[in-house]
Amino acid sequence: MALIDFHCHLDLYPDPAATTRKAVEEGVYILSVTTTPSAFSGTSALAPAGSRIRTALGLHPELAASRWHELPLFHDLLPTVDYIGEVGLDGSPPHRDTLATQAAVLHEILDACAAAGGRTISLHSRGAAVMLLDMLEFEPLAGTFVLHWFSAKPAIIQRAADLGCWFSVGSAMMASRSGREAVNAMPIDRMLPETDGPFGMTQGVPLAPGGAGSVYHDFAELKGMSVKDAERLMTGNFRRLVARSSREQAQVKDR
Ligand code: MN
Repeated sequence: MALIDFHCHLDLYPDPAATTRKAVEEGVYILSVTTTPSAFSGTSALAPAGSRIRTALGLHPELAASRWHELPLFHDLLPTVDYIGEVGLDGSPPHRDTLATQAAVLHEILDACAAAGGRTISLHSRGAAVMLLDMLEFEPLAGTFVLHWFSAKPAIIQRAADLGCWFSVGSAMMASRSGREAVNAMPIDRMLPETDGPFGMTQGVPLAPGGAGSVYHDFAELKGMSVKDAERLMTGNFRRLVARSSREQAQVKDR
């Protein structure tokens, strides 16, 4: 089974080195997202050369108000990466009052990605799905948008799909009724597995990178397909997205 985890916080597990070693042994393909530009170098150092781990450059919306001053480092590192994340907006009660700063930070990031020729971007949207889509709609050249754990009403998911967005989904999301409803509304040819580990949990236990493939089982059950078909579908989606992400980067290098 090909294990894929398109949104995982390797650097935030209690023992990042041990967790990464195990994931490498299991052959998991990982998009290792970060929450601040200053975390990027240490987190990419976790991934051995030639591994299946790609480290994304991020500035999490919950940290935008305290870490916006790291944006110059973000700009310095941007030419060296294919993937951006975790970035986005958080409009939930604890973070609602910093939304203006979050939006300013995200705007600067999307502009920079567009100017750099586009990147593949893993986006957070809790409590701010519509506001996020409004921003993405005005930055079509920023690259390929992958909405992570996008728990929105089906009509909003339809709008995101019409904008060309991809979706990364996990077992933790499918554990709730609203999450399953959201996953059901997503286009199946633009869905990828994620864990959001160590934050993504099942039965109170943080998911390991790749989640041992539980997303294939949960998705298969939801859609009434075989586990093998669910795996085949998401693996194919992943290959298409990676090919597209490297193509974008190749175009940048040609300039
Ligand atoms: Mn996350």
